[in-house]
This record gives sequence, C-alpha cells and structure tokens, in this order.
Amino acid sequence: RQDAIEQRHTEAAEELVPDNLKLYIGGEWVDSASGETFETRDPTTGEVLGEAQAGNSEDIDRAVETAWDAYDETWSDYSAAERQRVLAQLGNYVEENAEDLARLETLDNGKPISEARVDMQLVADHYHYFAAAARTHEGRTIPSDETSQIETVREPYGVVGQIIPWNFPLLMSAWKLGPALAAGNCSVLKPAEETPLTVLKFLEGVDDILPDGVVNLVTGFGREAGEPLSQHPDIRKIAFTGSTEVGRSIMANAAENIHDITLELGGKSPVVVFPDADIETAVDVMVTSIYHNTGECCSAGSRLFVHSDVKDEFLEGLSAAAEDLVIDDPLLDETTLGPKVTDEQVQRTMEYIQEAQDADAEFVTGGGAPDDEALADGNFVAPTLIDDIDHDNPAVQEEIFGPVLESFEWDDYDEMMEQANDVDYGLAAGVITSDLGKAYDTAKDLEAGNVWINQYNDFPAGMPFGGYKESGIGREIGFEAVEHYTQTKTISIAHD
Ligand code: NAD
Repeated sequence: RQDAIEQRHTEAAEELVPDNLKLYIGGEWVDSASGETFETRDPTTGEVLGEAQAGNSEDIDRAVETAWDAYDETWSDYSAAERQRVLAQLGNYVEENAEDLARLETLDNGKPISEARVDMQLVADHYHYFAAAARTHEGRTIPSDETSQIETVREPYGVVGQIIPWNFPLLMSAWKLGPALAAGNCSVLKPAEETPLTVLKFLEGVDDILPDGVVNLVTGFGREAGEPLSQHPDIRKIAFTGSTEVGRSIMANAAENIHDITLELGGKSPVVVFPDADIETAVDVMVTSIYHNTGECCSAGSRLFVHSDVKDEFLEGLSAAAEDLVIDDPLLDETTLGPKVTDEQVQRTMEYIQEAQDADAEFVTGGGAPDDEALADGNFVAPTLIDDIDHDNPAVQEEIFGPVLESFEWDDYDEMMEQANDVDYGLAAGVITSDLGKAYDTAKDLEAGNVWINQYNDFPAGMPFGGYKESGIGREIGFEAVEHYTQTKTISIAHD
C-alpha cells in the first residue's frame, strides 16, 4: 500500500505541479531578487513537490510599485461592469479546472480530495459572488438643507497587501482577491510557504484574464516576504489570515503607517449540545466541526459542552464516528482524514496532547499517530477526543489546529455559558438542539462572530465571517468584505 501511495503521488505531481514556480509580478514570471528558493513538500509522502521562489523585501517593493502602475494605468479605468466580467471569468476558470486544482491542493496541503473538491466549488462560487458584488457598490445621499446636497462614494484604496495561510490555500486567496478586485483595488498577495502551488497554477491559468499587475504574487517566508509587505508604506491596507501572534505584529506594523487592516485569526470555538438534541445529527455536526480538514480550520469547534443527560450516549457515538473516519491517502475518494500540513504542525499538536496527558485527562479515543505502517511517511494524527480535562489547561485555552477535541459536561446553563466564553478567542460557535428558540437565545449569549445551529463549518458565499475578541477585526466573504476594501468619500454640493 505504501508503494501504491508513493506511485500515485509521484504520477499526480508530474501531471499537476506547474513547471513555472516563479514570482508573478506585473504579469511576468520572475526569479526572486536573492535567487533563493524553498521546497514545498507533499505531507502524505514527505517528497519534495517543487521549489518556489523565496521572495524578500526587494521583491515586495517591486510588486507594490508594479501594482500601483497597474492601478493608475489600467485597473482604475475599469468600470464596475468590466471588473464584474473579469471576476466572473476567474470563477469560470476554477469551475473548468476544478479537478486538477483540487488534486494539486491535496498534494500540497494533504486534505482529502473530497474536501478539496468542495473547496474548489467554493472558490468558483466566491468569484461569482464578488463579480456580482462589484455592481452593487453604491454610495448614499444624505439629507441636508435646501442649499446643499451631500453624497458619498465608495472608492478603492488602490494597492492592498494580502497574506494568507496554508489550511485552505486557494480558497483563502479567493476570500482575499475577490472583494479586493470587486472594489477596484490591485493586490500584492503572499501565500503561505507551506502551500504555494495552487495559487501559482491558478495565476498561470488566468494570466490572459487578469490585466497585468492587478494581482502580484510574492511567494516566500513570513519574516522575509510577509513582514516587509505589512510594513510597506505604499500599500493602503493589509489583510491577514493566520495566527493571532503574527496578527498582532501585522497590526503594529499597520499602526506605523496608519493603514486599514482586516485580521482573521485563530479560534477555540465551543459547540453546545442540549439534552433534546438528536444524537445522530449532533455526532455528524461534531465530526464536521472538529475533524473536517484534519482540524486545520480557524473555526474548528474544538471545545464540546455536552449536557450530562446525554453525555455518555453522545461521547460513545462520537468516538465510534471518529474511529470510523477513513485515514488514508488523501488522493483516494473514500479518505475522510488526511495528514497534517507539515512535521512542525504534527509536533505542535503532539505537544498539546502531551499537556493533556500530563494532566491525567481521559483519552476517549486517539492521542497519537494512527496505527498504520503504510502511512508512516505522512504527517498523520489520529482523531482525538479528550475528556476530564481542566478548562485552564493550555490544550483547552490555545488553538491546537489539529483533530483534537476536548469535552466538558454541563447541567447549569449559566455556568456552561461562562466557561464557553472563557477563552481569549471568539471566532465561531455551534449549538445543537431541536428547539430553535433555545438555539437562537444561546447564539446570542455566545461571544463569537459566527454561530452555526445544527450544522457547522458551512461557508457559503455572501456569509460575513470573522471574529470577536482576539479572533480578529473585520469580516470576510460577504458584501461587508467589499466595503472593507473601500474608503468613503463625501462630496458636498452647493446649489440654489
Ligand atoms: P502564521 O500566522 O505564522 O502564518 C500565516 C501566514 O503569515 C503565512 O503566509 C506566513 O508566511 C505569514 N507570516 C508569518 N510570520 C509573519 C510575519 N512576521 N509578518 C508577516 N507575515 C508573516 O501561521 P503558521 O505558523 O502557519 O501556523 C501557526 C498557528 O497559527 C497554527 O498552528 C494555527 O494555530 C494558527 N493558524 C491559524 C490560521 C487561521 O486560519 N486563522 C491559519 C493558519 C494557522
């Protein structure tokens, strides 16, 4: 089986990895200024997939300057209707090439192909949504006195910087590029060093659709390429998705230049199960909330609050469902849990598991690598369910970003709610009950930017998404995202 996995991946890599792993600046494929490159690896086999360019501050300077040229000479002259057509063509391209892009995403990130296919449908649909949004970009007329009229127009910033993570590589690029381009901005985008391949392939494919310099891609590391982008005085806004720690430094850099900012950061989201919940539904929702994308979701529902009346039945169902997940080569259709993105991410997850073990928590299931020799070369972690753990434990308070769930039993609603809100994060939450009135009240009590009721991790286009507390600033995906890429100009007109 191990040989078959290797062969499948080697063949897929030969077919799908783009030859052209360069920086994309002003519509040209160019080497990094330093000439340095870095490897991106397949998390299933550990093999090198390709060597991308390690961009640095010189490349960022060049990309920002080029983006301004494109803005001044081309993009700012495009009407909303023309921008709509470009965005719709980006969506069409992804639809037409969805299978190749999904397989490449699975190679680079390790997510099961079934999940990568859903990502690609979403990428296409987000571009179509933002294509439409480009046309509804309206200002307001403000009541004034009889001698003047006040109007507002929403204008783009010009050039924006965008930094994205590795957990949904192409989808995150669509969340960033869609609203920025719809609003009329040019972008300098830096993908995560772990997963540069799908966005490179996408830009190679849409080179004829995008006017030169409207989107510029600088691959590279956080310190060398991301930091200079966030510090650049000539961008007018920075948008970032990733860890809260890096988000803090991005915000400090933005403060130096008084730049607008959008931050979509980590989470440690609670899911509340009421005693009237349908247990089968609740188990399905919980599996999606914590084990989808191997737990590498900022929104992952990683703290479970289950009512004592149904706790035993629920944990039994959930651990059985976790053990039924198909952990295997993510290129296979039937696989439901793939490897984590890198060795470092496995180490990080294992350190939190160790914290829980040191605290004598009960491991209902999982807690290490899966027992399967064919997967020994991959970054696999078994789905894990932990009970009897103190809510102050670092494994509970901090984002693990792996397939690890901690369970808490509750009887008293107010005490449960206090604990559910007792983390620094506030990105998402879930409520599972058959009483929608109760669900709605609970949703209002939860300190979270997004609450899913009887479902989880659903991200349709148009749904504003973002965090309370240390989970971020601003909203993505919905129309609000387009507004975050504009500034308001007020025009006051005197008349007789
Ligand atoms: P990270 O925040 O370090 O990286 C995210 C992006 O920021 C990457 O493109 C990276 O190159 C860039 N970056 C890193 N340092 C930077 C800097 N100083 N200035 C500008 N850009 C910088 O995340 P990570 O190291 O890949 O993962 C660490 C943890 O972050 C994860 O375990 C997880 O808890 C969290 N995370 C959250 C999300 C999310 O969607 N909210 C995504 C990825 C990781």
